[in-house]
Amino acid sequence: MTQRFSIAIVGAGPAGYFTAQALQNLQTDDRKFSIDMFERLPTPWGLVRSGVAPDHPKIKTVSKVFEKIATTEGFRLFGNIELGRDISLEELKESYDAVVIATGSSQGKKLGIPGEDLPGSYSAAEIVPWYNGHPDFANLKVDLNTETAVVIGAGNVAMDVGRMFALDPHELDTTDTADYALVNLHASSIRKTFICGRRGPENAAFTAPELRELPKLEHTDVFLDPAVISEAQARAEKKGEIEKDLRSNLEAMKTVAEAEKKGNARSLTFRFLSTPLEIRGNGKVEEIILGINKVEGDTVVATGETYTIKCGIVVTAIGYEALHLDGLPYEKGRVLNNDGRVSENVYVVGWAKRGPSGVIGTNKSDASAVVELLVSDLKNPKNSPDIANQLRDKQIVDQSGWTKINAREVSEGESSGKPRRKMVDISEMILTATN
Ligand code: NAP
Repeated sequence: MTQRFSIAIVGAGPAGYFTAQALQNLQTDDRKFSIDMFERLPTPWGLVRSGVAPDHPKIKTVSKVFEKIATTEGFRLFGNIELGRDISLEELKESYDAVVIATGSSQGKKLGIPGEDLPGSYSAAEIVPWYNGHPDFANLKVDLNTETAVVIGAGNVAMDVGRMFALDPHELDTTDTADYALVNLHASSIRKTFICGRRGPENAAFTAPELRELPKLEHTDVFLDPAVISEAQARAEKKGEIEKDLRSNLEAMKTVAEAEKKGNARSLTFRFLSTPLEIRGNGKVEEIILGINKVEGDTVVATGETYTIKCGIVVTAIGYEALHLDGLPYEKGRVLNNDGRVSENVYVVGWAKRGPSGVIGTNKSDASAVVELLVSDLKNPKNSPDIANQLRDKQIVDQSGWTKINAREVSEGESSGKPRRKMVDISEMILTATN
């Protein structure tokens, strides 16, 4: 006889969809899964919608995979349903055979230095969803009326933010950048953007494909001191054979450093071995003080020397932590778990499980491994009453509602050559979904 298990997935980002896909792949004639995906926003896709940089449309094509998963028999989307507001973890645990938490890491880590709270100092956890039209950040006041911006961190998020500030905004006209952000970026006075990493290029968390894009920027000159790359290369060689990813990174950085500068008014400059010490200003960000470091053996140490960059905006892109949800244990910014197992019939996947690392595809293998454990833990289906009865009074945006939002966004973008024109108002989204 066929056993049908019901699984709740909380969070409609890449980790959530790949969990659903892994479950779908493990279905047999004897074992089927009813999958209910709960999402706080009326729109799914998580970071693919509100994290991936608008000038990286190719990365967003994974949404086609998500839609295929979502339209497979046995899958339901419960959009606009928030854990803790509309339904509790306890209720999900009771109703479902297993609950998978896929809520990511949405809080930006703080530097903890003086001046970090001055107006003009932001976290990438605010700026990225702001330019991507996340409803929670649509009203964020972002003042780009400054010649110089500084981004802290040497990872791909710092690179995304730096590039978004440094690009000629006309290059974003045919992207899905939020309308209000595009207006603001067109009016931006930023001409110089700095990306500052605390360690050397050999320890940067950028990845080579992202670095290789930089010399292709037509209206922005990218500066990276070639001597700094040679020194990093020499240090890495001293340790033995350089592993493949690092070699690609250093080569890509060398290409950036040596690329011809076109005399563009817009520049993006990389500074390494620079630790932010203090942000200063009279009522708003006016400058940042950075400590100069040096490499000694395997460690980076302060030289005691500092330098200052006069700037009107600082964005910290130094990693993320998971937002705490009631009923879940947390440690070091993620849900405390054992290979994805949290407690009886509760599992965790993605950034909420392993911390904010890896690209979108990393979540696929990660989710598959957790789903294998989950399936091995299953005994007999609970056959609980349908949760939809309990949520009758809520304004659920289901897959058909989301399809309407999606279609409207895509059609509104078409006339201006954009992949979509994002809606940012939740009530407008719900109205579109339910009409
Ligand atoms: P990340 O890759 O972990 O980089 C974080 C950076 O912040 C590191 O350079 C780190 O330096 C620095 N940092 C941490 N604490 C600091 C402090 N107190 N002061 C100064 N610097 C500090 O994180 P991310 O950039 O947020 O990216 C998260 C994940 O998403 C990564 O796996 C990334 O590749 C991925 N992602 C991918 C793409 C893409 O594929 N296009 C785009 C965006 C994000 P240390 O190494 O010295 O700690």
